[in-house]
Amino acid sequence: MTDRIKIFLSPPHMTGNEQKYINQAFETNWIAPLGPNVDAFEQELAEYVGVRGAAAVSSGTAAIHLALRLLGVKRGDRVFCSSLTFTASANPIVYEGAEPVFIDSEPDTWNMSPKALERALNEAKKANQLPKAVIVVNLYGQSAKMDEIMEICDSYGVAVIEDAAESLGSEYKGKKSGSFGKFGVFSFNGNKIITTSGGGMLVSDDIEALKKARFLATQARDPAPHYQHSQVGYNYRMSNILAGVGRAQLEAIDDRVEARRRIFNHYKEELGDIEGIEFMPELEGTKSNHWLTTLTLDPNYIKTTPYELLDSLAETNIEARPVWKPLHLQPVFEGCKYYSYREDHSISDDLFARGICLPSGSSMTEEQQVRVIKTIKKNLSLKTIHK
Ligand SMILES: *Cc1c(COP(=O)(O)O)cnc(C)c1O
Repeated sequence: MTDRIKIFLSPPHMTGNEQKYINQAFETNWIAPLGPNVDAFEQELAEYVGVRGAAAVSSGTAAIHLALRLLGVKRGDRVFCSSLTFTASANPIVYEGAEPVFIDSEPDTWNMSPKALERALNEAKKANQLPKAVIVVNLYGQSAKMDEIMEICDSYGVAVIEDAAESLGSEYKGKKSGSFGKFGVFSFNGNKIITTSGGGMLVSDDIEALKKARFLATQARDPAPHYQHSQVGYNYRMSNILAGVGRAQLEAIDDRVEARRRIFNHYKEELGDIEGIEFMPELEGTKSNHWLTTLTLDPNYIKTTPYELLDSLAETNIEARPVWKPLHLQPVFEGCKYYSYREDHSISDDLFARGICLPSGSSMTEEQQVRVIKTIKKNLSLKTIHK
């Protein structure tokens, strides 16, 4: 079985044009964390997302960190963050010595529950501990309920950072994901919908804030002929070579979104009728890039546990994963405050217990997808329901 080619969860998908931009960088000797590809990639991405500007950085994590610095987050502050996400969404809060407070998901989008957010903000206001920022994640490409979340945050005067690392190309009511908050964040890590092997982008309509971001990302050098620094900065800028890779990748973004949506629809057609399988919903008025196709198994109908299914996929050389382990359950964030969907009901705990992500790379062939579907069907053991 292991002789079969491995099917990865979300491998890089090159267009063939990357080399052209890389060669240009070499020919002009722009082998630095600045240069024409960096400038052009920033402009092209900002245009695509529909924001005024962008700052290219070394990772999505770096972009989140810069956003927090720009919002003045410091020791003792609080920052709210979605719980059901990758740890990189919240780690930069801790870099600044601030305290993360985690907010549960809601069933319609699996993203931040506006109700739980409101409860948390209401309590925080009473305790005179309003957060400096709210980090909202668009999980697996699905946008959160941005109208509700923006309205609530605006009413408390709290800035929103949209962690759109997984949702480049997705839409909410006709507007591109990442364009809603004060800052939007994208990642071009190797597993994302487009990649620069490693990289990220901070976007905003605030051009001055982006200038400051570039300043902080280049060691915060004061304007002086000698090296002078009055603030702590970072080495966070994107290389001009990698920005070239990004430019070629961005040219293909619409194709990549369509490919992943096609893969999602195929899985849904083949597995959606099985009682006990439910796919991550796509909220009306939104368009998900379906970065990863994700589904839950209901133990009332299906005997196979998610881990058993993941094991049988691994045995046939197919990489699949559980849904993100919520951050409020992570040892590193032990003791942090958590606001569940309802006082007595946590949605993210349940999604973690029952959810799996299927291989969803845009370069996956029809044949490979059939292999995944067949393996799942073969290994699912259904319960006989007695009426
Ligand atoms: C990938 C990812 C990040 C981090 O991006 P890097 O470029 O890997 O630093 C942040 N948030 C979410 C939700 C992600 O999926």
